[in-house]
Amino acid sequence: MSEWCQNKKCPQKKNQNQIRGSKGAKYYQSNKASGYYEHWCSMGCRESWWQDHKDTCMNAVGFIDKQILPLDDAWYVEYKYDWREESHNRYHLINKLKGISRVITQQQAQTPEQIVEDHSWSTIDGTQAKELAITLGLDS
Ligand SMILES: [Zn+2]
Repeated sequence: MSEWCQNKKCPQKKNQNQIRGSKGAKYYQSNKASGYYEHWCSMGCRESWWQDHKDTCMNAVGFIDKQILPLDDAWYVEYKYDWREESHNRYHLINKLKGISRVITQQQAQTPEQIVEDHSWSTIDGTQAKELAITLGLDS
């Protein structure tokens, strides 16, 4: 790990905040890596690094073939806010591959922790959605 932006061209941004040194011997330096971008200072520096190193990364990780998600694993829960709708109609258990969309309760759509957090848009994940579908007799 390094505290500095990993884009070697970072100083070439020539931003005011990158100037260091005393008169006659001034220079631009890299920014520090920032929390959100982890190893880079910005999206631009991350993109520049990626352009330089994507072949190395892809060869290290390896290429994969086409992936599929079969219909039995295609369940998900969606929160749809619509001011015209009754508040109890906002959560849907959906499997588009099976052509199913079923209104469910908030208690079914969210974990107890999510209900406590009071973020109405966060919902159970795909695995839990499939379990719910089985419980409701929509899948086996
Ligand atoms: Zn940078």
